[in-house]
Amino acid sequence: MRRRDVVLGLPALGLAASVGCAHEAVKYSTRPERFDRDGIFHVGNSTHLIVLGGVHVLTDPWLKDPADKILQHRIPPAALPIDVDVLLLTHEHEDHFDVEALALVDKRAVVVVPTWLEARTRALGFQDVRAVKAGDRLNDVGGLSVDVVRARHDVDEVVYRFGDDHRRIFFGGDTLPTPEITALATAVDQGGCDFAILPADAGALMGTRRVMNVDEALAMATAFGVDQEGKGCMLTHHEFELTSAVWSLIVDVKPVDVSRLPSWFTAPAPGQFLSFPWSSP
Ligand SMILES: [Zn+2]
Ligand SMILES: [Zn+2]
Repeated sequence: MRRRDVVLGLPALGLAASVGCAHEAVKYSTRPERFDRDGIFHVGNSTHLIVLGGVHVLTDPWLKDPADKILQHRIPPAALPIDVDVLLLTHEHEDHFDVEALALVDKRAVVVVPTWLEARTRALGFQDVRAVKAGDRLNDVGGLSVDVVRARHDVDEVVYRFGDDHRRIFFGGDTLPTPEITALATAVDQGGCDFAILPADAGALMGTRRVMNVDEALAMATAFGVDQEGKGCMLTHHEFELTSAVWSLIVDVKPVDVSRLPSWFTAPAPGQFLSFPWSSP
């Protein structure tokens, strides 16, 4: 573990203090932990710290309840790792874009965010913000490549496949299947991935489904080729509930029957660290 307590701007603060300015230094991570092996630390719902080739990638952070007034954690999240190299954000729902959680994250992280959320992300203090649209491919995001793929949800969303020279991971936010995701999964050249993180709660709004169901998740996993030995898949976006039964008049969230998931499709608990199938124990 390496400690990364850093206070930037100390010389500037000293200078500022000497001239009576009240600007505060920007404090970065006070959390000392860095994971020293590859795998996924499951924080809760769609929030995961994915360690790939030593790069720490955080997805869609959510801590605060309620989210968008409607959702709250059904299972409390684990402590949020905030010493992060890359931050991937899919869409603005508060269970994926929680301003209070984002405020905790190291502002030196490279943030990949859809174009319509760029200004909001910069306003939070992040300096290296890569505004993307579906179809983009970024070749150096903290040493990783990132493919940006069109999602389908009740608001605009993108999802991501990212990786290094050895392994690639797909993060599915909370989307339905889309032709673009299928095309990425099945491309003859550069298709598939080594590990997929997929929602499967069949969430619906006003009677229209907005998130894939278990069958669709299993089909997507098969298309990506992660149902094979040495690869794998993880359930995401299923640890919430409605804040009030009244909301069930417009929102339908079906708890995932995890007993339907095959052995290669895992559902870790918040706080659990999951080694990749190819990782040495
Ligand atoms: Zn959403
Ligand atoms: Zn969501």
